[in-house]
Amino acid sequence: MHNTPDIESERAMKEEISIYIHIPFCESKCCYCAFNSFCATKEEQDEYINLLLGEIAKRSKAAVGKVVKSIYIGGGTPSVLDEVQFAKIAHAIFDNFDVYDNAEFTVEANPNSITEEKLACWKSLRVNRISIGVQSLNDRSLKKIGRLHTKQMALEKIKLVRKTFDNVSCDLIVGLEGDNGKTLSGYAKTLLSLGIKHISCYLLEVYDNVPLGTMVKNGKYIPLSDERTIAAFEKLSNYLQDNGMTRYEISNFAFPGYESRHNLNYWQRGEYLGFGISAHSFVDGRRTENAATISDYAKGKITEEILSPREIDEEIIMLGLRCNLGFDITQLQVIDLQKNAFFKDYLQQGILQQQGNLVKLNPMFYRISNTIISNLF
Ligand code: SF4
Repeated sequence: MHNTPDIESERAMKEEISIYIHIPFCESKCCYCAFNSFCATKEEQDEYINLLLGEIAKRSKAAVGKVVKSIYIGGGTPSVLDEVQFAKIAHAIFDNFDVYDNAEFTVEANPNSITEEKLACWKSLRVNRISIGVQSLNDRSLKKIGRLHTKQMALEKIKLVRKTFDNVSCDLIVGLEGDNGKTLSGYAKTLLSLGIKHISCYLLEVYDNVPLGTMVKNGKYIPLSDERTIAAFEKLSNYLQDNGMTRYEISNFAFPGYESRHNLNYWQRGEYLGFGISAHSFVDGRRTENAATISDYAKGKITEEILSPREIDEEIIMLGLRCNLGFDITQLQVIDLQKNAFFKDYLQQGILQQQGNLVKLNPMFYRISNTIISNLF
């Protein structure tokens, strides 16, 4: 259905906003995972969804006068929800917000919980982008980190998803034992041959308080060294770019037109409303975080984070330099980059590039972005 010219002109006056919904449930806990996610019964999931629906209805007031440009259902593993559960959430969004007809609507999914029925349901509810947690295409590696799927299952499910969805992203982890740059490029080759349009590459982080931390300490798991991880990332990055993708953010690669609009909104410091435990929101200059436990969340506990002008400047620089959009130097209120010796040096060396007020990081230097960014503060 198309909107009338009146609705379109009314929307043209509105500010845009994004919506994030956090589904904390997973079928099992991966050894490396430090996210706020856990296994739950169907009844526990239903209770959480009821809380979520209540929060969406209550906080939708914050988006009055705004139009939703992207919806992202992340987790956890949103694909563990059944069709009825998912439909309740999607309807709550459409009933409470003004959403563009062509809004980007992403669902995160893991291969083992993707079914034909769920795909049909998502499609009917205007989902148009699927992000699949592939992580590796090496069965030994997948098993060691506690993933439930195999290479074969991942490939079968990707093919199934691609029958319904054009805009499909896959996550890969860089740094896993046995997955060097050559093997990762091989995975990328396979994924591209299946029509994947976007790849997110995450560095393996080993936390002490998760099972992988203990495995590493006991010598039962040997991740790639830092140097080999960086080399593997570079090789994978080069492969993806040689094959037509753009590295539009440090960890994200996409064919033209398939960049994640939702993530770009975060990096451009656009407004977003987050629902569910641990979800963050940024609306009307106010930054809030929902409680991390379901019991506190049920009580409506929210904390507010107030950034100082300096912290806001730091965020503008950091987010802008992490992606290929850069940042507008005139947005900075407190930090004067003209007085920073590193800034001048980086411009002279071509590490930073300035066009008018726009400052960008030369993508060749993404691998040392942390050092560069911290030298600008
Ligand atoms: S599927 Fe994702 S969120 Fe769930 S346990 Fe594994 S890494 Fe964590």
